Amino acid sequence: MPDYTPEQLDLLLELQATDQRVRRIEHTLDDLPEQRELAISDQRAQELSRAVDELRVALDQAAAEQRQLEREVDVLSQRRDAERARIYDGSVVNARELKAVEAEIETTVRRLSEHEDLLLEALERTEAIEGRRDVLSTELEAERERREQLELARNDAASGLLAELGELKVARDREAAGLPAELRERYEQQLARTGGVAVGKLEDNACTACRIGLSMADVGELYAGPPLTTCPQCRRLLVVPA
Ligand SMILES: [Zn+2]
Repeated sequence: MPDYTPEQLDLLLELQATDQRVRRIEHTLDDLPEQRELAISDQRAQELSRAVDELRVALDQAAAEQRQLEREVDVLSQRRDAERARIYDGSVVNARELKAVEAEIETTVRRLSEHEDLLLEALERTEAIEGRRDVLSTELEAERERREQLELARNDAASGLLAELGELKVARDREAAGLPAELRERYEQQLARTGGVAVGKLEDNACTACRIGLSMADVGELYAGPPLTTCPQCRRLLVVPA
């Protein structure tokens, strides 16, 4: 391994710090709290929207039922009035016929009353559905407003991070370009191998990458050797300060 200047090794450590910040920001972007909140709000709005749609269908059905019952009540009222009129218009000529007409009136009035009860129930049902729809519609509207705010917040948070990421990548390129090509390649290879930290620094008798304590003999050997070597424990690049 060629000898590198302390400045080059400092730059190597700087490059690694920059790369770590880049990874942290990329991770943060994937996992933004604003992004998670937005997803939750999105789902809630979808659920509410579905529920409101279902109530709209139920309301249409209830309205159709109600109209049907209104028509039936209408028909029965007219029939009752017609039957009552027969008693007085002279068309009923004997007691037997009169009794039959009275029985018909009784049946019609009973059916009318039953239908009126059903109509009342249908009206109450419609009102209940309308009430529930109004509550959910208001909730949906509020959730949609909340969602808009969350989207703005998410965009704000992401734009800050994206700007920071852009700056870090510029810094990274500058730092990488400042290293000898051979050193940069070793760093990249090590980075690909470890997927995270590629370089450690000898500090307090341990490598800062693996933090496994080294024996005094190892430490003595490292200080006597080149300023850039390999950690005897984790095999990462190891910067040995003068
Ligand atoms: Zn190590």
